Amino acid sequence: MRYLLVANVYEQIENTTKRLEMTDYLVDLFKKTPKDLIDKVVYLTQGKIYPDFMGIEIGMAEKLVIRAIARAAGRRIKELEEDFRKTGDLGETAQKFLERKLQLTFAYKPLTVERVYKALDKIARASGAGSIDQKIALLAGILSDAEPKEAKYIVRTVTGKLRLGIADMTVLDALAIAYGGGKEARPLLERAYNVSSDLGQVAKVVAENGLEGLKNFKISVGKPIRPMLAERLSSPEEILEKLGGKCIAEYKYDGERVQAHKKGDEVFLFSRRLENITNQFPDAVELVKSHIKPFSAIIEAECVSVDPETGEMRPFQELMHRRRKHDIRKAIEEYPVSLFIFDVLYVDGRDLTLEEYPVRHKILEEIVDETDRVQIAKYLITDDPKELEAFFEEAIENGCEGLVCKSLGKESIYQAGSRGWLWIKYKRDYKSEMTDAVDLTVVGAFHGRGKRAGTYGALLLAAYNHEEDVFETVCKCGSGFTDKDLEKIPKMMEPYIIPHRHARVKTKLEADVWFEPKIVLEVIGAEITLSPVHTCGMGSIREGSGLAIRFPRFTGRYRLDKSAEDSTTVNEIIEMYKRQLKRIES
Ligand code: ATP
Repeated sequence: MRYLLVANVYEQIENTTKRLEMTDYLVDLFKKTPKDLIDKVVYLTQGKIYPDFMGIEIGMAEKLVIRAIARAAGRRIKELEEDFRKTGDLGETAQKFLERKLQLTFAYKPLTVERVYKALDKIARASGAGSIDQKIALLAGILSDAEPKEAKYIVRTVTGKLRLGIADMTVLDALAIAYGGGKEARPLLERAYNVSSDLGQVAKVVAENGLEGLKNFKISVGKPIRPMLAERLSSPEEILEKLGGKCIAEYKYDGERVQAHKKGDEVFLFSRRLENITNQFPDAVELVKSHIKPFSAIIEAECVSVDPETGEMRPFQELMHRRRKHDIRKAIEEYPVSLFIFDVLYVDGRDLTLEEYPVRHKILEEIVDETDRVQIAKYLITDDPKELEAFFEEAIENGCEGLVCKSLGKESIYQAGSRGWLWIKYKRDYKSEMTDAVDLTVVGAFHGRGKRAGTYGALLLAAYNHEEDVFETVCKCGSGFTDKDLEKIPKMMEPYIIPHRHARVKTKLEADVWFEPKIVLEVIGAEITLSPVHTCGMGSIREGSGLAIRFPRFTGRYRLDKSAEDSTTVNEIIEMYKRQLKRIES
């Protein structure tokens, strides 16, 4: 197939802004394309040579492309650079210089799509020593035989500037018309695309096997399924109503979404945007390998940075260290991740995307070997708005963004690639940022694990309620302690250990160790939130809710100068909450 045919269609498309016309031009192109080339032509129209998730990009630097054009056109680099400065479009410059050359030569071999594709593929894959010269030679090779118009589009393609503005859905429309018997075939094509993220493969299947092929389209491990997304509402009542009176509410973990594909020892991880992020999370790869029981599976999880010593979730920003760090091994140690799994889409040859959610959830419970670091997203099945609200507050306090409430109905399939009402997210509209540190009394402690075995993992801290002369808990704090602190604190607390909760301590939690309220520590957190768990100011803002400090951290200051009754008071915390309440921009 002549590449000129493709270039002509590009030109037509470039000259229209109407989607229908664009579709017609594409239909025409697809009809003229031999079936065994259709995938390649589809990728090319999008300025690519493979689907995005393969991560193979042509991306040649302009400087190198100029050298290739100079060689093909027999002109000096300087002349080209000068012209490029004027046009700002290297494709146009290439076209101009090759036009001049064309007038002087006669013998050239017409370019085929196969040859162009092969050269682009080699350019994309060339690496290591000598690869720069190799890329220039490959590009100059095809440009030497290119007609000026072809050169324009080849150059734009290699520099990543083709930008014809053809949406994925336009390609699907055109394929439906060219091979599927008409636009009515769009939903079948769309589904195939949504479960493969590979337009080229979809094109090939429909071109070669028509609608039957699409009906039998299979999910493949290694090809990402386009993610299902949630709508948003802002009250438990509205959510329950929308979901038929009852739902499964899950913690909305605040990390990075990953879709994990497992086939034996092979694991791929894809991001929400379907990039292959396997190399960024070697620890997550290991977790999937060892805790997902079937030989092959596709699951979805939120990857969250967790404090290795306390098991507490860290703020989302800390996960981003994993993106920045060059030394991934070190990053794994400092910012290990946990996986909170919330869906299963495929198990050992069985496509689960069209099963209702209760079925998928049951399978999920069977296939995950749960540990501290691999867990099924915490959930609650409820029809009660109050219960839903309390679960929401608990999720926030535990470091989550809120809840994702999901349909349990017959229609609750996995809607790949779309945002719909089967999932509804419930996030806060307001938050109360904490700018000042507070002084809190230690009233209990929890045993540590891992590196902290033998000392305390977290302390239960309370504010002072002046009117009632009691201590009301406001957080469990496990962060900010140095090794020295961890050694010192158990000794320091030893004299105050009592066998049960102190009578002046109001709490809903069961600590491992209880203390007489004596020792005061300075603590700062990210914000103050409503909490169904902590008793500080219970009922003062909302019935049934107290206040808690989210992401609390010991500042390093022991307030030995203060008695427990000098701690920050409950009223002060209520005031801080009200004063700092801000609308969340989102
Ligand atoms: P947001 O910025 O609110 O995360 P989004 O557009 O990325 O929005 P939405 O579909 O609106 O995504 O919200 C769902 C997102 O929440 C998912 O993409 C996923 O990353 C995350 N998430 C965390 N926990 C869950 C869960 N239990 N179920 C589904 N999604 C979850």
